[in-house]
Amino acid sequence: MCTDNTIDVEFDRQHIWHPYTSMLKPLPNYPVTHANGTRIYLQSGESLVDGMASWWSALHGYNHPELNAAIQQQSQQMSHIMFGGITHKPAIDVCKKLIAMTPKPLQKVFLADGGSVSVEVAIKMAIQYWFSQGNQRKHTIMTPAKGYHGDTFAAMSVCDPINSMHSMYRGFLPEQHFVPAPKSGFYDEFDEREAAVLRSHFQAHHEDIAAFIIEPIVQNAGGMNFYHPQYLKTVRQLCDEFNVLLICDEIATGFGRTGKLFAVEHADICPDIMCVGKALTGGYMTLAATLTTDKVARGICEGEAGVLMHGPTFMGNPLACAVADASLSLLYKNDWQAQVANINQWLEQLKACETLEAVTNVRTLGAIGVVELKRTVDVAKIQRFFVDNGVWIRPFGKLIYLMPPFVSSEDDINALCSAIYKAIAQDAY
Ligand SMILES: *Cc1c(COP(=O)(O)O)cnc(C)c1O
Repeated sequence: MCTDNTIDVEFDRQHIWHPYTSMLKPLPNYPVTHANGTRIYLQSGESLVDGMASWWSALHGYNHPELNAAIQQQSQQMSHIMFGGITHKPAIDVCKKLIAMTPKPLQKVFLADGGSVSVEVAIKMAIQYWFSQGNQRKHTIMTPAKGYHGDTFAAMSVCDPINSMHSMYRGFLPEQHFVPAPKSGFYDEFDEREAAVLRSHFQAHHEDIAAFIIEPIVQNAGGMNFYHPQYLKTVRQLCDEFNVLLICDEIATGFGRTGKLFAVEHADICPDIMCVGKALTGGYMTLAATLTTDKVARGICEGEAGVLMHGPTFMGNPLACAVADASLSLLYKNDWQAQVANINQWLEQLKACETLEAVTNVRTLGAIGVVELKRTVDVAKIQRFFVDNGVWIRPFGKLIYLMPPFVSSEDDINALCSAIYKAIAQDAY
C-alpha cells in the first residue's frame, strides 16, 4: 500500500499510457514530485538539470513566480468560460501580443487547444479557402518527408509516412503529396537541384494542392534537421507562383528557440497560415494558435460556408490565455535574444563529441544542440545513465538532443553537455 503522497508507480505501469509506449512492455517512468527553475525533483530525492524544457515548452523554467501569479489571479476571475458568444481580456491580450510579434500580414488568430488541433485548423482553413473561391479540386496538402505536425489524423497525414506508420492506417488516412525532405544544411551551400525538384512537384500537382505545410528551418521530431533557408524561400516563391497556400508550423521553433523570434525570419518570408503552440504558455498549460492573413480569412468567410467550421469546447481557455500572456511578457523582459545567444555559445562544447567514434554529426542552432550517433540508442538504458548523472535528457532514434529552458545557467548547460559526452564515451546507450 502506498501512503497518500507516494507516487503509485505500479498503478501507473498497469493502467496509464505514456507517449509512444507499449502497455505491455512500458519504458520506465520516473516519479517526479516537483520542479523549480531548471531543476526536476524525483521522488527518490535526486534532482536533475532539465535539458528538454518539457518538449520545447518550459522556456522560463518551472514554478515561475510570475507565471504562477498569472494563473492564480485568473483563477479568481474565472478558470473557464465558453468562447461562443463571449469574449474576455486574457484572450484579447494574448492575441494582441501574437499579432504584434508575428510577421505583419498575420492578423487573424484562431485559439486552439493544442498543437495538433492548430494544424487541423490550418489545413481546414486552406481547404475551406479554396472551396470558397469555387475551387473544389484543391484538397491535397504538399509537404516534405521527415516532417512532424502532430498525432491527430490530418496532422499525422502530413508527418513523415514511415515514422508515423502510415501503412497501418491505409484507406483511412488521407493521402497527401510528399516531396523530398530538405537536404542542404543550414550552414551549407544551397544545392539548387532541390529547388528544381520542388518546382517539378508544384508544376505537376498544383491544381490539386490546397497548401504546402512545413516546419520552418528545423524539422524536429522527424530527425532534428536544420535546413537551408533558401529551401523555405523557394517554397514560398513556388506557392505564390502556383496558387498554393503556405502553412508554416512554428509549434516547436516559435518564440526564440532557433535564435529568431520565429524561424520564418531566417528566410525572411511570411506564411499564409502559421501555427504556434508548445512554448506559448511557457510550458504551463496546453494552448496553441493558428494565425492567418486578412486575405485568407476574407476568402474563407466570403464563400458559401461564410464561417470557419471549428470551435473546440475549451477554445480561448482564460487560464491558458492568461499564463500565455504572462509568458510572452517574460520573454521580452528576460531578453530572450541574449538568453538564446548565451546558450548557443555554451552548447558549442558539444562539438567535443565529434571526436568520438560513435558520433556522426554534432550541430547547434539557437538554443538547440544535437548529437547524432551511428546507432539507435536504448532509451531506457541511457535515460537511467542520465538520471544517475543528474540530468534529464530524452533521446530518440540516433539523436541525443538538448533544448533547455532559456533560463539555463552556464553550469546547467555544462552539466548537460558533459553528461552526453560521458554517456557516449562510456557506451552507456
Ligand atoms: C509538438 C508538435 C506538434 C503537435 O503539438 P501537440 O501540442 O503535441 O499536439 C505539431 N507540430 C510540431 C512542429 C510539433 O513540434
